[in-house]
Amino acid sequence: MSDATIRIMCPNLTCRKVLIVPANSRGKTVRCRNCATTIRVPQKRSAPDATTPVEPAPPPAAPDAGKTKAA
Ligand SMILES: [Zn+2]
Repeated sequence: MSDATIRIMCPNLTCRKVLIVPANSRGKTVRCRNCATTIRVPQKRSAPDATTPVEPAPPPAAPDAGKTKAA
């Protein structure tokens, strides 16, 4: 098993393209082909990054929450 490539997601919220970069580019910066944003490739995969963008989750739409069904 060899991790020849790393998959990272573009931090640009309007882009969020998954980029596949070679493993030897760890610790370096790559440029998104889609939006030209420079992204730093993490040293290890699945490493918690402090710069992870927080996605605001919209509240679930409940049109009729107070409706109860009686069978
Ligand atoms: Zn991008």
